[in-house]
Amino acid sequence: MTIGVLALQGDFSLHSKILDRLNVKNILVRKKEDFDNINGLIIPGGESTVLSLLIKKFNLFNKIKNFSKSHCVYGTCAGAILMSKKCDDNKINTLSLINIKSFRNFYGRQIDSFTKNITINFLKKKINVSFIRAPKFDCLSNDLDILGKVGDNPVLIKKENMLVSSFHPELSNSTEVHKYFINMVKNNV
Ligand code: GLN
Repeated sequence: MTIGVLALQGDFSLHSKILDRLNVKNILVRKKEDFDNINGLIIPGGESTVLSLLIKKFNLFNKIKNFSKSHCVYGTCAGAILMSKKCDDNKINTLSLINIKSFRNFYGRQIDSFTKNITINFLKKKINVSFIRAPKFDCLSNDLDILGKVGDNPVLIKKENMLVSSFHPELSNSTEVHKYFINMVKNNV
């Protein structure tokens, strides 16, 4: 089993390091052919406007969409914004992989970034995670699994093969969210 990490922009190298640490084979994904060798994809956080342009430039938009029909995809922060059905910013060409609307920079600017102990449904203990210019997600249907919340706002959502988080699990001491995604991929292989 190999997990691909989209490596056009953003925090891809830390995701790759965590997968290494968990002994999961992984490759950096930059071109269409890379999709032939992966069983799941992580779209990292970064800057969604830039990622959106680069996905178009490298002709990966339809490739990611087709891949998602039969494989697991996990988007963190900017990656989640791209996976959304809708975004409040029409500069973003969303991939429409999960039925949510994202509101960019909902918690403020870079300087307003914070870490928080959050409860995740499948974990006994809270984990401390980072929110960096994080989006807010509105669920556009009630068939989504909300796996974690901050206040009333969902921050970790799953729908079948799709997983999104508004936080950055790769900056946390806990590898549990990555393990959860790895299991999703394993169960789908
Ligand atoms: N606010 C950024 C955006 O809209 C996302 C930030 C992040 O990925 N940490 O693209």
